[in-house]
Amino acid sequence: VDEIFNKRKQFLSPSMLYFYNKPLNIVHGKMQYLFDESGRRYLDAFGGIATVSCGHCHPEVVDAIVNQTNKLQHSTILYFNHAIADFAESLTSKLPGDLKVVFFTNSGTEANELAMMMARLYTGSHDIISLRNAYHGNAAGTMGATAQCNWKFNIVQSGVHHALNPDPYRGIFGSDGKMYAKDVQDVIQFSTSGQVAAFISEAIQGVGGIIELAPSYLSTVYSSIKEAGGLCIADEVQTGFGRTGSHFWGFENQGVVPDIVTMAKGIGNGIPLGAVVTTPKIAEVLTRRNYFNTFGGNPVCSAAGLAVLRVIEKEKLQENAHAVGSYLKERLTALKDKHEIIGDVRGRGLMLGVELVSDRQQKTPAKVEILHLMDQIKGMGVLIGKGGFYGNVFRITPPLCFSREDADFLVDVMDYAISKM
Ligand code: PMP
Repeated sequence: VDEIFNKRKQFLSPSMLYFYNKPLNIVHGKMQYLFDESGRRYLDAFGGIATVSCGHCHPEVVDAIVNQTNKLQHSTILYFNHAIADFAESLTSKLPGDLKVVFFTNSGTEANELAMMMARLYTGSHDIISLRNAYHGNAAGTMGATAQCNWKFNIVQSGVHHALNPDPYRGIFGSDGKMYAKDVQDVIQFSTSGQVAAFISEAIQGVGGIIELAPSYLSTVYSSIKEAGGLCIADEVQTGFGRTGSHFWGFENQGVVPDIVTMAKGIGNGIPLGAVVTTPKIAEVLTRRNYFNTFGGNPVCSAAGLAVLRVIEKEKLQENAHAVGSYLKERLTALKDKHEIIGDVRGRGLMLGVELVSDRQQKTPAKVEILHLMDQIKGMGVLIGKGGFYGNVFRITPPLCFSREDADFLVDVMDYAISKM
């Protein structure tokens, strides 16, 4: 670990982001487990964030990647190939309405950049509305849509306005989605010409600390945006592919159908892949010029993506996310009754958050305590994430094969660590 640390310091970006006092050197993964250099096994309750939907090194996904690599790996431009066409067909079968045209990218940032550009081209408007506390990427456009100073640099990010976050725990209107939605109406009226290009949001904010948008929020906002001539973009980079359990896509939990859906992470089970899915009518804007992405949807990544869809279906991973996630949330909620430091337990399926506060009334973020607890939990063999604007929210997003026994182990370990503190 020390040797890697020194090399990273010398040869890699000085902007390092890593967990734990003593970072882990992970050398091997198998389903919901990760192994360090000494062979020690960890239960991975955060791999979902870093793209693993089916489980680390899922044999069927690995086989698909190896077989396609042995056959051909190439750019997606110029020649035809079955892998990309089959994957696009299969992917659109999972989407509602007229969402039938796919553009593949290599990351979530690229997908959101493309979605925002398409909305601007289609509507002829420039203004985009996103939510405070959102994360949508780190290129110029998506950094504009991202709304947390933690992730923003002072470069030109024109035409993006940030509306009040419909955060049931910390927001001023509690769980009243319709009240927050009024702020979008205000932004349209006071900050734009009255016409907008798009509204973009996650259904559950991931980086923002597992914040589930207040009920009825999206349906109300989508109406306002449509009235202002804009398109609605759902960023499903974290919430897609069955993670929320009850539905395949996060937006379905709010009963809306977006005009554009973006995805990445879980789509490839660890392979760099992203996608934008939209309607034929909106997709048409890209025929005005040449448009391509050298590696977006390349044969190897497409083969992986197709295998992921197959595995999610075959192994009923969405159903598992629902069953295990509901059970895990119940157990975490019970833990809240036991420990003052837990201010809130939230999320859906296998996308759960536990917010730590040092004072429940004031909701004072327990920033120091969470670091201590994460190290203790790691010491007992469980890896969980953290996030939120104040960095005080445990993020629990395991591979979707996470079992009830894993859930029990995770909660018992968390309980023990908090009790000992
Ligand atoms: N959207 C959301 C909701 C994300 O969480 C992320 C990454 N954390 C992105 C977009 C950007 O994806 P990528 O890092 O693949 O560019």
